[in-house]
Amino acid sequence: MLRQYFEMKSRVPDAILFYRLGDFYEMFFDDAKEAAPLLGIALTARHRDSDIEAPMCGVPWQSADHHIAKLIAAGRKVAVCDQLEEARGAKGLVRRDITRVVTPGTVLDPNALLPAVPSYLAAAVPGNDVWEVALLDLSTGGFRAGAVPAGRVPDLFALCRPRELLLPEGEEPPLPLPGVARTVRPSEWFDRARKAEPRAASFEGPGAAAASAAILYARELSPRALVHVGPAEPLRFGERMSLDAAALATLEVFESSEGQASRSLFGLLDCTKTPPGARALRECLASPSTDPLELEARWDAVAELVERSQDREALRRALAEVGDIERRFARIAVGTAGPREVGAWAEGLAALPAVSGAAAGLSGARLRSLADGIPDASDLVRRVREALVAEPPVLASAGGVLRDEADPELAELRRLRHGAQEALLEIEAAERKRSGISNLRVRYNRVFGYSLEVGAAHREKVPSDWIRRQSLANAERFVTPALKELEEKILTAEDRIGEIEARLYRELLEELSLSADRVGQAARAVAGLDLSAALAETAAQGAWVRPKLSASPRLTIRNGRHPLVESLRRQEPFTPNDCDLSPEKRILVVTGPNMGGKSTYLRQVATAVLLAQAGSFVPATAMETSVVDRIFTRVGAADHLSRGESTFMVEMLESAAILREATSRSLILLDEVGRGTSTFDGLSIAWALLEYLHDEPARAAFVLFATHYHELTEIALVKPAVTNATMAVKEIGGKVLFLRKVVSGAADRSYGIHVAELAGLPAAVTARAKEILGNLEKQELDVQGAPVLARKKGESAGEGQMLLFTGQEALALEKLRAVDVNQLTPVAALSLLASLQDRLKGAE
Ligand code: ADP
Repeated sequence: MLRQYFEMKSRVPDAILFYRLGDFYEMFFDDAKEAAPLLGIALTARHRDSDIEAPMCGVPWQSADHHIAKLIAAGRKVAVCDQLEEARGAKGLVRRDITRVVTPGTVLDPNALLPAVPSYLAAAVPGNDVWEVALLDLSTGGFRAGAVPAGRVPDLFALCRPRELLLPEGEEPPLPLPGVARTVRPSEWFDRARKAEPRAASFEGPGAAAASAAILYARELSPRALVHVGPAEPLRFGERMSLDAAALATLEVFESSEGQASRSLFGLLDCTKTPPGARALRECLASPSTDPLELEARWDAVAELVERSQDREALRRALAEVGDIERRFARIAVGTAGPREVGAWAEGLAALPAVSGAAAGLSGARLRSLADGIPDASDLVRRVREALVAEPPVLASAGGVLRDEADPELAELRRLRHGAQEALLEIEAAERKRSGISNLRVRYNRVFGYSLEVGAAHREKVPSDWIRRQSLANAERFVTPALKELEEKILTAEDRIGEIEARLYRELLEELSLSADRVGQAARAVAGLDLSAALAETAAQGAWVRPKLSASPRLTIRNGRHPLVESLRRQEPFTPNDCDLSPEKRILVVTGPNMGGKSTYLRQVATAVLLAQAGSFVPATAMETSVVDRIFTRVGAADHLSRGESTFMVEMLESAAILREATSRSLILLDEVGRGTSTFDGLSIAWALLEYLHDEPARAAFVLFATHYHELTEIALVKPAVTNATMAVKEIGGKVLFLRKVVSGAADRSYGIHVAELAGLPAAVTARAKEILGNLEKQELDVQGAPVLARKKGESAGEGQMLLFTGQEALALEKLRAVDVNQLTPVAALSLLASLQDRLKGAE
């Protein structure tokens, strides 16, 4: 048996093998060690009914799907090895074979999918400058392919989060992808795919090699896998607004900073009524538009539905009945949908006319074209309703799936079976009367068939013409010739009924699967209407406003709010803030104490831009913006530590990417850049970065820069497009109150000490801190008599030199620079050295 096991395992080395043994699927060796903790089941060393000794664990066959779904969710692949014959009848080893392979990128089981999240298999063919990438979502039929610049591949993967990545052997993904299943094939296999897949060959343009690989792989796993998948569409990554992995995380687009999906921007906005609508919302947040016409059309749609609240409500009520017609159809097309699912799908289609009806009064171009795109699917509804019973079972194999009217022979056989069952009851009654055994019952058992069961107490009353079939602990079972005859009839009828039902059900699915085009069209219409109605609902509930597009660069927000902070962290009422950026004043340096609200302000501005270009209204009283091509963020790096890179290195990598790739249409958030290194390093880097963003015309983006380096405010003295803002604070009775209001100007630098007071540091410590601060400031002025950092070229501190030292250190340096070594006697040199050293010691 183990030899057979290893033979099977060698065919699917990268999958966990479920090996059928009796009523269990068993996993052995490394598979068992890996799966047991993921499934929360016991790992044992010895098999219960054989003499195998190996690490192993097992699950009952009935619950296999549930356990497979768990492993898939954890990014594993599962191969199922079934018994091909009854163990009882088999001579020697039972024949077994791998009957299916389930992988995260190809799974269709609803238990292994999230309704609002696409499930991508990504096929990639890496190259030096560009990668070919195809994204195939078998759960919906979505299929896109294209070429992506190598440097942007990590962002693409961060955005679409494939569940499985198919790569040529020896290639590595561009970033670690935890939880993503990896599948490799030799490069010859990729070449073969390219030649063998006519469907992908018709896809002209870059990406065809990846597209054909995705198709071949899906086909290898299941021949019918692609019935509902059309030709690949071009992957327009980079043509829309780009959000990289950092921006997605900072703006908490799909996950909150604590990793919760429900507290993300998507979680907040998702009041859609259908899974296709939820997926559409996800899509527009993941790739916001940069096309002014598209944006206006989307806002028009939201505006109309905000205004017509009754139509919106009616539409949303109708949509709620539609369900996931798209994913249910994928399972129908592949042939794995159960009867209950098919029934639910048809009832979803049956709700479409109500959606059309509710949308009848809408007039905007986008809404009209969506609503008018809903196809007539009444024939499909009728077909299903006429075939299936009113409350069909979950599994087709359970039987009782089809109506009698579906097939005359089926109806006849069922009548026969019914008659025989009645006859059974008659026999039961007659024999009970004849024998006087009051608790006589007709029983059915899979192995022994129908029998008369007699309790042990009545054994002596059994008539002599009954034939014993089976003895139990406290009962015995008998048959009679009449019972056997009936049994024969019933079982024959049942076999035949099973055959007919299976055939009719298969035919039904095949017939329905021909409607892929119409179902796709309906799903797109439903998704679009649901999306607009949901955005309108959010806008109406939160008093959000329609953004205005500006042709010239500007970003103006009146009374903007951060939607997540406002709704989820309600310790205090949210204080709205404005934003005014234009080419003349395009860099804003925000200083202020920790916890003042700097980072919230930065994120709220970027979130408004993201929402606007996702087609949503925005949480503000007014907003005017030019189209932003990309949002860059560089914010607190602590969470990267787990990746093993140093915080500072990550910070600098991200900053480098920004300086390389930003354009004059980008929006850049820099929050506490430089924090990851020593003060002087950090401050110098932050200063130089700001200078570069100011002076380099190609990088003339809008920049919001939050910092606790007070010195950075001085850059506004020398760079005209820089303005300073700070978080307003109020002192009440010596205590500091954060007003959360962004006001122009620089922060008073002692708020750090006030915060320390708030935090409960002893008064003696904070008083001493104030004293030290006073001294430091005085010394700094003593030396320079002017702000240190803003010193321009040619001033006494030397060529472009920035003096970052204060007090005694600075004085010592100044002295050292001033001295003319040629004029110095040895004694004077010695005494100078001593005095410098004294000074520096004093500064320590
Ligand atoms: P900083 O970046 O200056 O350290 P944060 O932006 O992290 O400060 O904000 C600190 C706290 O203040 C957060 O808990 C946030 O919820 C709250 N906060 C920030 N801005 C506002 C605001 N405008 N209205 C209400 N609360 C705010």
